[in-house]
Amino acid sequence: MKRENQTSIRYGSSLDTIQFLTGRIGLIFALFVVANAMVEGTPAMVPVIVTAGLYLVFNGLLYRYAAVPNAAELLVNLILCAYMTYWGAVYSNILYYLLLGRMVLRVGQKRAGEMVLLTGLTFVAASALGRELPFAAIGMNVLFHLLSMSLLAFMALKIRLIMLQKMNADKEKAELIQEKDRNQLMALTDGLTGLYNYRAYREKVDALPQCVLLVVDIDHFKRLNDTYGHLCGDKILVILGNIIKNSLRKGDLAFRYGGEEFVIVLPAATAQLGYKVAERLRARVAETKFIQGTTYVPFTISIGMALKGPGMETQLAFEQADKALYRAKRMGRNNVQYFDNVANG
Ligand code: GH3
Ligand code: MG
Ligand code: MG
Repeated sequence: MKRENQTSIRYGSSLDTIQFLTGRIGLIFALFVVANAMVEGTPAMVPVIVTAGLYLVFNGLLYRYAAVPNAAELLVNLILCAYMTYWGAVYSNILYYLLLGRMVLRVGQKRAGEMVLLTGLTFVAASALGRELPFAAIGMNVLFHLLSMSLLAFMALKIRLIMLQKMNADKEKAELIQEKDRNQLMALTDGLTGLYNYRAYREKVDALPQCVLLVVDIDHFKRLNDTYGHLCGDKILVILGNIIKNSLRKGDLAFRYGGEEFVIVLPAATAQLGYKVAERLRARVAETKFIQGTTYVPFTISIGMALKGPGMETQLAFEQADKALYRAKRMGRNNVQYFDNVANG
């Protein structure tokens, strides 16, 4: 877990995974080296087993704690591999290739050539010293390994390039989607209160088969504006927006319908629950202490409630809630009324 977090800072998962795998595969092949030395049982068995053991411990610890391949890893591994080669551990050859692939994936094009030379020459020098080959054979060895390591490095570079391109493309795509989502959200959000706006109301409420609709209106807002100033009026709108946000449960929707009028929508709620929510909100607003400078500014709201039943137009439900609101105003404000045909119709 720790390793994943660290590595992902530098690359991203796919390139990381290949680097991680090449390291792990190296551990498997080091076990081969040990097994083969035991089977052969030559006098060189002990140094080979000890060196391969060190390789296993070092790389085991490395993949547990180190973030990305680094110079220390390269040097220590080259020395260990060279020592195995020097003692004739044939199966150790692949360890150079895995190490090279891992390093080239890490350093990229600029330093891939250095990696090939360093790895290739270390291998050739160790095998030449260990086996005392004739000069011509050393030449062939150098050519063969430099060529095959260059090809491997080339492949690793291609893989690296493709993965980096893909990662960039994925990132750009994710950013575009994020921006689109942000724009969409902004188009549906009221700038002052952060609640949904009228456009969102039209989009979202029409789609609901049924709901409770609460139309909320600030009492004597014009007077508040005239007495305390327009800025103070704006602050009251923000405060009310926050109170509404904090009063709602998951799934409920709140909109600034326009001016000092808000609509709250409770999907699939009963009339009883709707009334309870409205009454609680009214009381909360009435209790709110808003102090502007040194002046206490009291404000209240009135709420009209209506039910939008199955098959009913949202507009009709809104008109009914608005009628109930009108009644709440007539009854002295700071009041909640629900629509019924007898009282309002
Ligand atoms: P009532 O109790 O009957 O609702 O009276 P009211 O004064 O609240 O109602 P009225 O419709 O007469 O006035 C609404 C006022 O709301 C008028 C307008 O200046 C003010 N208003 C609308 N939008 C904003 C706004 O964004 N900021 C501020 N500060 N005031 C606004
Ligand atoms: Mg008003
Ligand atoms: Mg109004």
